[in-house]
Formats: sequence, C-alpha cells, structure tokens
Amino acid sequence: MERSTELRKVKRSIWGELNYRLNWIIFGTIGAILLAFIPVLGWLLAIGVMGAVLFKTFGFRETQLVGSCPACTKSLPVDPKNDVFACPVCSSVIAVGEDSLTIVKID
Ligand SMILES: [Zn+2]
Repeated sequence: MERSTELRKVKRSIWGELNYRLNWIIFGTIGAILLAFIPVLGWLLAIGVMGAVLFKTFGFRETQLVGSCPACTKSLPVDPKNDVFACPVCSSVIAVGEDSLTIVKID
C-alpha cells in the first residue's frame, strides 16, 4: 500500500504574514542585542542578524510548501530541504517528493 498526497504552494494569510514578520522583528532584535554583548565576532553576527530581520520584514512574501499527511490528512507545512519527516500528529514517516508526499512504511 502506497498512499500519497499532492504538495501545494501557498502564500501565507495576511495575519500569518503579519505574525511571521513581527516574530522576526522581535526575536531577531533580541538575538542581535544578545549577540552585541560579545565583542567583535558578536557584533558582526548581530549585524548579520539585523540584515536578515530587515530582509524578512520588508522582503517579498514567501511561498510556503504545504501538503496533507497521507495517513491522517492533517495539513502540514513542508520543508523542501527535508527528504523525509515524521507527521507531528500521527507520527507516520513521510517522504517528500518533487510534488507529492508519500507515506513510508517501516517494517
Ligand atoms: Zn499524519
């Protein structure tokens, strides 16, 4: 038995987007401030973090990869960098394909 579901590309909702950017500002700023206590190396990292925050906050809206778990049909955000991941709901092991999610059977 091999079941698979389609992967979809979606944009975040306005509220999701706002939340996401707010999180970047808050946690990015906190991170940068903490890093700034470390001389030289920390300062450089802090500048890098602030750059990332500005990029994430004012950059383009990112598309997210979303798929349904083939086992429990729960909608899950998918990281295309991962080959396999476990469903947080039913803990099925799922393989990430080009445009589909396939359940991996472990015997
Ligand atoms: Zn599942």
